[in-house]
Amino acid sequence: MKIAVIGSTHAGTAAVTNMANMYPEAQITVYERNDNVSFLSCGLALYVGGVVEDPQGLFYSSPEELQKLGVTIRMQHDVKDIDAEAKTIYAENLVTGEHLTDSYDKLVITTGSWPVTPPIEGIALENILLAKNYNQANTIIERAEHAEKVTVVGAGYIGVELVEAFEKAGKEVTLIDGADRILNKYLDEAFTSIVEEDFENRGITLAMNETVQRFEGSGGQVGRVITNSGSYETDLVIMCVGFRPNTNLVRGIVDTLDNGAIIVNEYMQTSHPDIFAAGDCCAVTYNPTGKHAYIPLATNAVRMGTLAARNIMEPVMPHGGTQGTSGLHIYDYNMASTGLTETSAQLLDAHVKSFTIEDTHRPAFMPTAEHVKLKVSIDPETRKILGAQVLSKADVTQSINTLSVCIQAGMTIDQLAYVDFFFQPHFNQPWNFLNKAGLEAQQDYNRTPALV
Ligand SMILES: Cc1cc2nc3c(=O)[nH]c(=O)nc-3n(C[C@H](O)[C@H](O)[C@H](O)COP(=O)(O)OP(=O)(O)OC[C@H]3O[C@@H](n4cnc5c(N)ncnc54)[C@H](O)[C@@H]3O)c2cc1C
Repeated sequence: MKIAVIGSTHAGTAAVTNMANMYPEAQITVYERNDNVSFLSCGLALYVGGVVEDPQGLFYSSPEELQKLGVTIRMQHDVKDIDAEAKTIYAENLVTGEHLTDSYDKLVITTGSWPVTPPIEGIALENILLAKNYNQANTIIERAEHAEKVTVVGAGYIGVELVEAFEKAGKEVTLIDGADRILNKYLDEAFTSIVEEDFENRGITLAMNETVQRFEGSGGQVGRVITNSGSYETDLVIMCVGFRPNTNLVRGIVDTLDNGAIIVNEYMQTSHPDIFAAGDCCAVTYNPTGKHAYIPLATNAVRMGTLAARNIMEPVMPHGGTQGTSGLHIYDYNMASTGLTETSAQLLDAHVKSFTIEDTHRPAFMPTAEHVKLKVSIDPETRKILGAQVLSKADVTQSINTLSVCIQAGMTIDQLAYVDFFFQPHFNQPWNFLNKAGLEAQQDYNRTPALV
């Protein structure tokens, strides 16, 4: 069996290492256009901010390690074309310029995503950078050294993490977003306003409700960002306005969503029986709505890559869908969310009812007890939990993983009220704040639980 894999960051590396272990008789060949594998972009802001000093820690595998598993590695090879009928791929060696054609029995597409670069006037000016891979991280570090004023465009989690890194490095930072608040896809306003206030107290300029119209500069270098209602001097711009699936290679070969994300079944099989796909190049099943969604996360990528490996010979282990669970640490705040927020529910035409708990993470008699804000959103008809958000200076983010399990298991808010959680004064309270969200919901409805 000849297996070809295109792309080797998280989904690709997970697929390759698992396949090499599970099918020692298979001939596995990996094509990667970059000069490294397995870069943890998740640590990019920490690297830029100097928290991660040794960048080697941001890699958990290497071409040499994959080779030791018996895999053929073609680094700096760009796959240019796929002939799905002849089962061949056509690639260019980016170092020598040579071209080669290779055959396969099964193909695994893990080509990931690429940052969106809107066609804004002046975007080609020097010092307007993207933040995705290792080489880009190094360019940001190098250019930031000589920059006093830094502008981040896009207030999602990557933009917000970079804002913190630049502010801590003593830069004058402006954060621009067309939405009316930061992190609007992950947390509702009651949560993001706390982080925004913190940003403003630290001197960060928030330019919300503003869209970039053009970049201006002199000598080829960016010097100013012009929005629909403002103008900001800048030495460096980082564009963090989202990701697009990297799937031009398979357009017309496999089914995709409108944005190009490959549609796979629960066994990571595309609409073509011999082509599997995993990671940021794919859509995922979003459990709160039961529909396909584009949620590019490393967690989804490693899970899907592993499942592509497990299912490539025969379908044995289905994917359970995702809630898009994510967490963030910004200055002193820890926050996490899973599933629907009220904002995302509105965008998806889903109806939710929410319950908010304000508590301390442990009893007041302890030397310190931090405030916790938890919001749980449910389907008002079935009372099933569809989403949750938490924010605290204490690290209570694992509670969101617990609620992710609840969503995946189809639990109701009433069941949550009485789930058995431990109590120990160092960590929590006799009634865990998760239980309290369930109790609050029962009191609100003032009726017998819908389902037990
Ligand atoms: C700054 C930043 C922070 C992040 N933080 C988090 C986080 O905290 N938590 C989290 O879960 N996720 C996080 N993510 C998202 C996460 O990094 C991605 O979801 C993950 O990288 C997806 O992995 P992937 O293997 O599917 O795709 P990618 O990482 O996009 O890798 C695809 C690979 O395919 C290669 N490739 C593409 N086309 C070809 C071709 N034609 N020929 C050969 N090779 C090709 C590319 O060179 C690349 O190496 C972050 C992302 C960024 C950018």
